[in-house]
Amino acid sequence: MAHTIHDMIDRFAMIGATPGGGVRRLTGSTEDGVVRELFVTEAQARGAEIHIDRIGNTFATFRLAPGSDTAVLTGSHLDSQPTGGRFDGALGVIASLLAAESVAERLKQSGAVARHNLTVVNWTNEEGARYQPSLTGSSVFIGTMPLDRALAMQDRNGIKLADELDRIGFRGTEDWPLRPVHYLELHVEQGGRLEAEEIEIGLVHESWSTAKLTIAFLGEPSHTGPTPMPKRRDAMRAAAFAITRFHEVMDEAARDRLFHWSAARIVVEPDSPNVVASRVTVWFEIRNRDEATVRDMGQRFLAAIRPEVARQQIGLEMVAEEVRPRIRLDAAGLKVLGAAAQSLGKTTLDMETITGHDALAVQSGMPGTLFFVPSVGGLSHNEAEFTKPADIENGLAVMEAALWQMVLRPEGERLPNGSVDPLPEPTV
Ligand SMILES: [Zn+2]
Repeated sequence: MAHTIHDMIDRFAMIGATPGGGVRRLTGSTEDGVVRELFVTEAQARGAEIHIDRIGNTFATFRLAPGSDTAVLTGSHLDSQPTGGRFDGALGVIASLLAAESVAERLKQSGAVARHNLTVVNWTNEEGARYQPSLTGSSVFIGTMPLDRALAMQDRNGIKLADELDRIGFRGTEDWPLRPVHYLELHVEQGGRLEAEEIEIGLVHESWSTAKLTIAFLGEPSHTGPTPMPKRRDAMRAAAFAITRFHEVMDEAARDRLFHWSAARIVVEPDSPNVVASRVTVWFEIRNRDEATVRDMGQRFLAAIRPEVARQQIGLEMVAEEVRPRIRLDAAGLKVLGAAAQSLGKTTLDMETITGHDALAVQSGMPGTLFFVPSVGGLSHNEAEFTKPADIENGLAVMEAALWQMVLRPEGERLPNGSVDPLPEPTV
């Protein structure tokens, strides 16, 4: 099994491989289609049955409990950032598939009776690189994003997600026919804590909150040559000011509290060197563990730019304003996972996730459990992202042990949120 997983990761990483050793598999691209096909082929070869839903989520079900309509769901995502790492998402899907296969074999050999079926899922557009917002497939599945809105999302060239899913043959027509009792996800850490503390498994208790503000600066197109300077309404100039001010405001706030923030995407219209920009859209993100705090910082930032932007006679349009709440992951699942890691002699660390994950997106509708293995140097969304073979094997082993418990145990009551102690406030 150890050999199989490395081999399998290599084969998946060949699809959309980049010269820098990473992958480029944007949602709905040809590469996304090819990697999905490989997932389906590998799942069917292991005896799983496939369902593809209307947003392209792909479910591979091992019928471990044929008389039951319930399933433990496990997986992650196969799409990537434009210069993504080979383990981000793919590790979770591949480990889930191999773990599910071995749970099925072990059931046959032991004669134990499973209470639930076991389904491996590849969620559509986790990354949100080509289509925003991210976590699309899992959010549609759990009902927090309308299907129509998701299918109508357009990339920067106006190409709809629905059309791309059609093109690659992954816009399904059916619902996954089972009812999930639990969701389990393995992911690479995307940070350096596990490596620094020499810990093998990260048990994720809760997430940070994120405010995502997409703001358009509205000016007027004019010739960059003859137009007199006082007559220009330059949206680029206002956007540049706002980005600089954003970093100043956040730098100041970060003296007292731990924040992560970025302005990482910009779209300029009409996007010609000879036309003063008439519309510039910038994607801002503010992350902190506390939801009220990220909301407040969003307001403080807007207040800090409004007067100068107005003075430049530039309009402000809030294109999208999304606040992802701080989410506490399922306590009962954490206990199963912690016991699984302990039974295998793996070291564990209770931690938070700063990044969004499908396990957080589905949490509103089912208990979700998320765990990490170390990323070397904490590198992520980078072609050089790397997780050591031994850490991959640890993740797979813990996943197998946890899934084994989860398919056997009765559908549990959710422990109240308070039953896991909150983690201490991180230091700046
Ligand atoms: Zn990921």
